[in-house]
Amino acid sequence: MTATSMTCKQCKTGMSLQPLDPVCGEQGVLKVTFIQLPALVCPNMHRHFATQEFPVLVLDHVAGKDMETLPAGKKSGLLFKHYHCSACGAELDKGDGREETFDFDVTLEELPTFRIELTLPLHKCTSCGKEQIRSLDEMQKLAPPAMAHAFKAAGLHPE
Ligand SMILES: [Zn+2]
Ligand SMILES: [Zn+2]
Repeated sequence: MTATSMTCKQCKTGMSLQPLDPVCGEQGVLKVTFIQLPALVCPNMHRHFATQEFPVLVLDHVAGKDMETLPAGKKSGLLFKHYHCSACGAELDKGDGREETFDFDVTLEELPTFRIELTLPLHKCTSCGKEQIRSLDEMQKLAPPAMAHAFKAAGLHPE
């Protein structure tokens, strides 16, 4: 493990960079799991983000290029929302969908690579059968609170 000159703000002992056990957080239909998330850990097991920008960089990654790779439908209507297939434009099924997990390897700054899993419902097009999330926009809104729950579960705090 990489030794660092960082000291723990809570107990003033030296911290080292360590991969954490898997942790997850959920918000609505989205579940985010971090596997081997790198964090600074002191001998008293206080945990801190690897860098100050780390949570923001992770969110950018998840809500940006990770979620953008998912097949996504289009939303229409303000009061009564409808979701349409990105391939043929037909309506997507209105049920709960089928839960699916997508995983992404993430390398940020100089830190060791870790894995992010996104578990979310896929909805089938009623016409062509293509499976997709109902709306990218909606998933991106769920990402920050879901990730905040996961960070909290990992014992990571902003300070
Ligand atoms: Zn400490
Ligand atoms: Zn379709």
